[in-house]
Amino acid sequence: MKKHNFSAGPSILPEFTIKNTAEAVINFAGTGLSVMEVSHRSKEFIAVMDQALALFKELLDVPAGYQVVFVGGGASLQFCMAPYNLLKTKAGYLNTGVWATKAQKEAKLFGEVIEVASSKDKNYNYIPKGFAVPSDLDYLHITSNNTIYGTEIKTDLDLGVRLVADMSSDIFSRPIDISKYDLIYGGAQKNLAPAGLAFAIVKEDALGKMDRAIPSMLDYRTHVTGESMFNTPPVLPIYSALQTLIWLKDNGGIKAMNKKNIEKATLLYDEIDSNKFFKATVESAEDRSIMNVCFVMNDGYEELEKDFMALAVAKGCEGVKGHRSVGGFRASIYNALPKESVQALVDAMKEFATKH
Ligand SMILES: *Cc1c(COP(=O)(O)O)cnc(C)c1O
Repeated sequence: MKKHNFSAGPSILPEFTIKNTAEAVINFAGTGLSVMEVSHRSKEFIAVMDQALALFKELLDVPAGYQVVFVGGGASLQFCMAPYNLLKTKAGYLNTGVWATKAQKEAKLFGEVIEVASSKDKNYNYIPKGFAVPSDLDYLHITSNNTIYGTEIKTDLDLGVRLVADMSSDIFSRPIDISKYDLIYGGAQKNLAPAGLAFAIVKEDALGKMDRAIPSMLDYRTHVTGESMFNTPPVLPIYSALQTLIWLKDNGGIKAMNKKNIEKATLLYDEIDSNKFFKATVESAEDRSIMNVCFVMNDGYEELEKDFMALAVAKGCEGVKGHRSVGGFRASIYNALPKESVQALVDAMKEFATKH
């Protein structure tokens, strides 16, 4: 039976990425050697890095004055690299969940941090709006997609301050206006590549303004100058990232991906909203993520949760168990997840409603 992979992260990657990576593990670029056992400074691997960085910029329309770097350490290391490089005196953080809280905690090591707003009062099931933002912030940090709670900021905020965004779980899912950000970063394992890799899109003008000394590995300038090869980069995830970027381009790029993502999300949310056994945890359509769809059993049907889980698994739907802090179900419907997988979950929900 075909498995439908709704895992939150690491998560589904295009078959194109998996197959080409598997092949390169055996025989990389006709070298007769594995991509894991050749020098990262070989001409074959440098070509991979160059093409990956170029396609990354092309697909996201990264404007002049910005650099893209690949670094290790995941998004969690970016929680510290961002303030290390950009927080001079004061930064604002929007608290929309666990990841946003962790990012904020790291920033406090580097300067004054103001929590501009929080949705903690309702277990982060909405995006705060209409909050005041001091004009003297070095930056405002946002988490554009809250993987655990299924909320998303789907527009580029215009709040009169420079933005820094954790886009781990919605990068490449929708067009973004990079010019509004000083920094966008994320772990690769949600929409791009296997774990072990993070990306950062950084504004060159925003760098080099700190009085503090920054360790080389944590200084974005090191990776810009070193073209993401200051030290040995995670070669395998970078090879896979390139495959995903080629796949994205071959499939119409970000606009086409966004259209498909909205169709998939609409299909699932419509079923949740119309099926009396289920309830979305995020009420406002505006705040609902098109990447992570969180839902629970509706009031009065809570005891049927195990039954639906069993049916979903029987239909080949893997990874739909909700995060422990939200409960219920979470369907992660990243770029690589085909619409037919969403349809399989929707069909399971319809079948469940008929049976009960
Ligand atoms: C998964 C995730 C992280 C953590 O990423 P790591 O690479 O494990 O450090 C951070 N932020 C968001 C929004 C995530 O979804």
